[in-house]
Amino acid sequence: MIVKLLAYTPNADRVCAAAARSCYSENPSGTLVDTMKNPAKMLSSVVAMGHHSVIEHAVFTFSVEGVSRSLTHQLVRHRVASFSQQSQRYVSLNEPTYVIPDTIKDNPEAKKLYEDLMIQIWDTYGKLESLGILAEDARYVLPNGCTTNITVTMNARELMHFFTLRCCTRAQKEIRDMADEMLRQCKEVCPVIFAYAGPACVRGPCPEGEKSCGHSRRKEFIQVEE
Ligand SMILES: Cc1cc2nc3c(=O)[nH]c(=O)nc-3n(C[C@H](O)[C@H](O)[C@H](O)COP(=O)(O)OP(=O)(O)OC[C@H]3O[C@@H](n4cnc5c(N)ncnc54)[C@H](O)[C@@H]3O)c2cc1C
Repeated sequence: MIVKLLAYTPNADRVCAAAARSCYSENPSGTLVDTMKNPAKMLSSVVAMGHHSVIEHAVFTFSVEGVSRSLTHQLVRHRVASFSQQSQRYVSLNEPTYVIPDTIKDNPEAKKLYEDLMIQIWDTYGKLESLGILAEDARYVLPNGCTTNITVTMNARELMHFFTLRCCTRAQKEIRDMADEMLRQCKEVCPVIFAYAGPACVRGPCPEGEKSCGHSRRKEFIQVEE
């Protein structure tokens, strides 16, 4: 899997802080963005109070490469986001290309079963294409594990929500690895907005009840001094 932050709102922490301050100021955000003192303090306190509409002004675009269609099926359930995904209608997947989940990779017998089936699937896919069947119909035999590339854009408010659900140990490992990496890259460019981003246990009690993993991941995610 390769996760790459392609583009993001420049000075996002400062832009969102200015937007927040402009609600309580005679001055517009256009002035405040350059003049306001201590934008980090302003932004941290509004975000901590739950006034998350101001962080919708910050937008992030990621390229995600080599993940499974299982992952992207979960990803596109997040409706407040924009997606562009490699098409299995227009791109022929001539060579076997698939993700092997770690649990299968670590079990030699399961791995062999899995890989043998993948060879069989791609053999059938190729034979269907050679019979003149279009890729858009031949793809019906392809597995959930088939790799794909997707571009995803989310604003910071949606990302915070996404990280809450998908950095949690309840999320499946593959999408959790992707979400953890997205968050790591977001924190690099916007340390204030994402200071308390991560699963719910980073900010308070776990809401998962009896399904809870029972461990707070706060120390893994929060780097700010407390
Ligand atoms: C551990 C885990 C297990 C899951 N298991 C299943 C499963 O078994 N089956 C299944 O179908 N899904 C499952 N899901 C997917 C889950 O139900 C959500 O569809 C997905 O996580 C997107 O979350 P969301 O709807 O909160 O967020 P988004 O679509 O990202 O929306 C963000 C927020 O915007 C608001 N919003 C968006 N659209 C609307 C709307 N139409 N009306 C009102 N408010 C809206 C809500 O406040 C929402 O939380 C699972 C998710 C997780 C994390």
